[in-house]
Formats: sequence, structure tokens, C-alpha cells
Amino acid sequence: MALIVQKYGGTSVGSVERIKAVADRVMRSRSAGNDIIAVVSAMAGETNRLFAIANQLCDSPDPRETDVLVATGEQVSSALLAIALRGMGQPAISFLAHQMRISTDSNHGRARIKSIDCEAVLQALKQRNIVVVAGYQGVDAKGDITTLGRGASDLTAVALAAALDADLCEIYTDVDGVYTADPNLCPNARKLERISYDEMLELAGLGAKVLQHRSVEVAKRFNVPLMVRSSFSEAPGTWVGQEDQSMEDVLVAGVTLDQNQSKLTLSGVEDRPGLAAKIFGPIAAAGIIVDMIIQNASADGRTDMTFTVARTDLKRALEMVEGIAAEIGARGVRHEDQVAKVSIVGCGMRTHAGVAARMFEVLARERINIEMISTSEIKVSVVVNSKYGELAVRALHEAFLGAGAPPSHSGAS
Ligand code: ASP
Ligand code: MG
Repeated sequence: MALIVQKYGGTSVGSVERIKAVADRVMRSRSAGNDIIAVVSAMAGETNRLFAIANQLCDSPDPRETDVLVATGEQVSSALLAIALRGMGQPAISFLAHQMRISTDSNHGRARIKSIDCEAVLQALKQRNIVVVAGYQGVDAKGDITTLGRGASDLTAVALAAALDADLCEIYTDVDGVYTADPNLCPNARKLERISYDEMLELAGLGAKVLQHRSVEVAKRFNVPLMVRSSFSEAPGTWVGQEDQSMEDVLVAGVTLDQNQSKLTLSGVEDRPGLAAKIFGPIAAAGIIVDMIIQNASADGRTDMTFTVARTDLKRALEMVEGIAAEIGARGVRHEDQVAKVSIVGCGMRTHAGVAARMFEVLARERINIEMISTSEIKVSVVVNSKYGELAVRALHEAFLGAGAPPSHSGAS
């Protein structure tokens, strides 16, 4: 008998019919002889609805009270699933975070889990229950309700699977797995059969919504086998796990596009110690996340500094940078409000040279100018004019993952 943690996302529990379908699926896994813990998100749209009400009452709603409010979404869906299961004659019990002591720090809205007390869950399983757990929430040392960040029901599921040493953590969602690219952009994008934790971390960091970033970090740290699959079909999903030899033969697992980037350039910055800290210190202190940074080789003791921020942060970043430029005597500030970041990700890059060069060739063939480049061990990202973002993704997908391309994790050829 295996212990399986199943997480059902918002669309999977978005209506009475959907909750019934989830209850059926849970029952089937149960009948196959497994112990099941089902972690649920709030019903689709509910968390956003609750945040919106709070925002109608106050410009910056109190974080403690906001957590009390938004955690109710998962309270509702966990109770409803337990009710559905009991209605089918299956013993089931729901647990909120405080009932199983999912202890967190007190950072409301983005609390970190410190520990989980699995005693109550184990007891309930022993009594042959299906255990239903409200995702997304925790409780701090004062007993206050906290939440773990948007999308963090995934994290609840993975953390529970780690704490209970579960055999598998299944993430049920409305797509049937992790794709080589967004199918809306690339009609020939394919579902991956398998992907490594590191590749998934990069993809989640680049905006793939299918798994919450932190949940993948925890899965990797505790070696929790993950399966991402659809609650709307029986299709096998994507397995996320430890990297192995065969994955290294694959150069690129996925291509991503982020259209919400802006680029700022400070020109004529004096080239001396401390200036980068002067520029980026205040920006970081304001909570603005800087993504790529380029500093040019200096000429005549002056250099240019270019960096990207999320487009939503551009206005604030620009105001700050203009102030800083005046302070440090830079010659000027330029910006481009809409640029695209296009990335390729694959653990084969660790062992194969020339992947970046090949990416640049593909873009050159399409006459797409590269404005910035950044690399990590298993990723290459470029910034291009926003107009060419989609073209770049399609060309790269075709070159690395298309019909004539080298092997891929999807196994299809
Ligand atoms: N309901 C929460 C959210 O919408 C958590 C989750 O769905 O994973 O962010
Ligand atoms: Mg999600």
C-alpha cells in the first residue's frame, strides 16, 4: 500500500460537479489500495475575489486580517470535498493548518513553513479515513492564521509529502503536464514525460505557472517524486524528479517567453568601487526585483549599466534611477518599457558545449537582434524587442524541439 498526496488546484474543485469528479478520483486511488491525503486549493477565482473585496475596503489591507480572510477559500473547499466523500460512504476528515500544526513564521502573505506535526493525519489514516487538507495556510507561534504565498497549495502538498515520506505527490491541475513551450504560442509544443527538479525550478522561475516555485525547491531538497497531471482526463502527466543520465542527452527541455519586462540604462556612470551598490541598493530596498544586469567595459573611466525589471515596477524603478543618476553624476537614463525575455532551459547544457551559440544562430537567422544575454548552468536567456518575442520562441522551439531536433524528454520524435 502506497501513501499518496494528491493536490487539486482551483479549477479542479471549481464547481459542485468538479468536486464530485475529484471525490470519484480520490476514491479510485483509494480503491486501488492506497492511503490518500488530498490537499485542496480554493475554488477557482475565490482567492482573487477575497483579495478584491479587501482592496475595496482599504488601499493596503492589514496583512494579518487579510490572511484570516483569504485562508477561508481553502477552508470551504476542504470541507466540501470531505462532505462529498462522506456522502459516498467513504470515511473522510478535513484538516485546517492549525489542526495539524503547519507551523510557520509570522510573515503574513508569504509565511515560511517551519514544521508540520503529522500525528493527527497519521491517526486519521489509521482509522481508514481519506484525509483532506486545506492548502495555502499555516499557523504562527501566536496561533494566528498565515498564508504561504500565491499558488502555495502546491507547497502544502509537497511539504506534507516530505514530512510523511509519501511515495508520491500528484499535482492535479487543468493541463495534462509540463510542456516544452506554451501551446498557445507554439502549436507543436509537446508534453514532457519527465523533467528534472532543476529544469522545473528554472521554468517556474521563468513564469511557468504549472508548479509554484518554492514547492519545487522543497521537492528537490527532500527528494519528493512529483507527478503533474490533469484532473480532467486520464492522460499520464509529467514526472518531476532527480536528474539522470538520459536527461543530460537532451539539450533543451523547454522554451519560455516573458513579455512583461522593461529595460533601463544608466549611461556614463563613473567606473569606481561602490557605484553598483549605490544604484542597486535602494532599488532592492524598495522591493523591486532586478533580473538581468549588464555592465559594459568602461571607456574613459565611465561605463553603461543596463538592467531589466518587471514592467509593473518600471515606473517606480525609473523614478528611483533618475534620482540616483543625478546623485552619482551619471550622464543619463534611458528606458524601453516593453522588452521580451526568451529563455531556453535544459540540463544537457551542463555537459554539451555550444547550446548558447546555437540559440544565437537561430535568432540571427530570423534577424532578431539580441539586446542582453544572461546564462546559468542550465539556462540561456536573451532580451529582445518585444515585437519579436513570439517569433523567437517559435524559431527556438523548432530548432531545439521540433521534428528534426535532437532527442527530448517527451520521447516523441
Ligand atoms: N488559493 C491560493 C491562490 O489562489 C493558493 C493556491 O491556489 O495554490 O493563490
Ligand atoms: Mg497553482
